Amino acid sequence: MLIDMHSHSDGNADFIKEQQRAQVASILNATTTAEYRFNEQYVGQQQLLSYGVHPWESERQEIDEQLLSQVAIIGEIGLDTEWTDVPLSVQRPVFLQQLHVANDSQRPVILHTKGCESEILRIINELPDLTVLIHWYSSAELQSAYLARPNSYFSIGPDVLTGEVVQTFAQKVPLSQMFIESDGLESFRWVLKREVATSEYAGLLKQVYQKVADIRSISRSQLVAQLESNWQHLLASI
Ligand SMILES: [Zn+2]
Repeated sequence: MLIDMHSHSDGNADFIKEQQRAQVASILNATTTAEYRFNEQYVGQQQLLSYGVHPWESERQEIDEQLLSQVAIIGEIGLDTEWTDVPLSVQRPVFLQQLHVANDSQRPVILHTKGCESEILRIINELPDLTVLIHWYSSAELQSAYLARPNSYFSIGPDVLTGEVVQTFAQKVPLSQMFIESDGLESFRWVLKREVATSEYAGLLKQVYQKVADIRSISRSQLVAQLESNWQHLLASI
């Protein structure tokens, strides 16, 4: 069974159904209450729903505190200075409020760290018991410092197919702390620089698994088995 640690339906019910058809276990992230309710209509047994206000949305979206208090996994949340104009002064309180809800209730959190790797590491190192899922870490900096933090998982994103920094990181992440993610079809479009049909999803996810297996000099089935074990471990904690 393949696992997609971090995905977005982007309001496409066919994507959610395609994960089910391909027997992919996943986390479907929602950044608004409406998106969460949409995902909830189609969710299958092997799909987990998460909710959290994404840093790009932190100026537009209010935190739905009731929903935040209910979800099994919080995220994706974080900080970003590269792909958004929303100032950090707006992003930071939204991030910290959600992070502290996760920590107080000891629920795992999915983190977006783009351009803010050092600030986020400082913050999560002060919360050592919190389980974090670091999504698509793509910085050449602080890789070892992140890997030294306990209770951390790292999901490798699709640009491992082409990007050297992520390839180097995929070489370093202990297999027991590794996951793979699509980040939704938009990310495949971004990496491959072409239109991607929903029906291509499972094949592309397999390619990402194969690439990481090649980097680690193991077979794809060995990688699949390891990530299934990590998934069971994570599920046991929620
Ligand atoms: Zn994402």
